[in-house]
Amino acid sequence: MSTAVVRDARLLLLGTGTSAGVPVIGCDCAICRSDDPRDRRTRSGAAIEFTDADGHARRYLIDCGPDHREHSIRHRFTRCDGIFFTHDHVDHTFGLDDVRRYNALMKAPIEVFADARTREFLERVYRHIFRRHENVNDSFVADLFVRTIAAGDTIDRHGLRFTAFEVLHGRLPVLAYRIDALDATGAIARDQPAPFPLAYCTDLSAMPPDAWRHLRGLRTLVLDMLRYRRHPTHLTVDEALSIAHDAGASRTVFVHMTHDISHADLSGRLPAGMELGFDGMVLGA
Ligand SMILES: [Zn+2]
Ligand SMILES: [Zn+2]
Ligand SMILES: [Zn+2]
Repeated sequence: MSTAVVRDARLLLLGTGTSAGVPVIGCDCAICRSDDPRDRRTRSGAAIEFTDADGHARRYLIDCGPDHREHSIRHRFTRCDGIFFTHDHVDHTFGLDDVRRYNALMKAPIEVFADARTREFLERVYRHIFRRHENVNDSFVADLFVRTIAAGDTIDRHGLRFTAFEVLHGRLPVLAYRIDALDATGAIARDQPAPFPLAYCTDLSAMPPDAWRHLRGLRTLVLDMLRYRRHPTHLTVDEALSIAHDAGASRTVFVHMTHDISHADLSGRLPAGMELGFDGMVLGA
């Protein structure tokens, strides 16, 4: 029997909005004025939470954007075991300064996984963290352990396997992640608990040929869906629906939406097995 070692696993969608968030500053369109809480979208990011084989609660973040502090307070986070970055855009990275609170609470450094471009960006923007010895005053900064990863790399942590793969965000190759649950021998479990196998694919306009093998047999697919009109770096509603159809996950959830999309309106028109994400949505246990 090939049983997963992780228990009580879930994917928590922390934010499901595009880079400006919804409502958009200074906009009085119907969606920005909507009373539906599902139309309020903070900047996109997610947490994978589970109990490991030793009974320890674990949490990994995918991206850490400018609303991370609000997400953390909303969901009462007290720990973060690692952060997997998809790319270097501000809406996915500008919460990194706040993770120092987890260092203080856990008394341990946090592992950060990023491709070479994103690592260079983080080290430049967060110079006070990475070149701490140059700070005029030795104030409290995050304690991070950065690992450079590339498409095709797999990282096994506490019973999960994170596989990075490449998707295209306009001309920029960015990382998406497939996450599988492992058995006690370290092989992919035959019976993976929900939400696994899972793929998280934000900020893309095209799924390259090599990405498709990472979308096979998914229970859960989280996928970019910006708006109805064409966009150079994101999927439209129709493009996202087409990729979701071809991927054939049991459950597909769309994220990174603008104020063009009314949750109530589009939700009612999606095919079976496809849903719009919303801030605070939980997938899995
Ligand atoms: Zn984005
Ligand atoms: Zn608006
Ligand atoms: Zn982006």
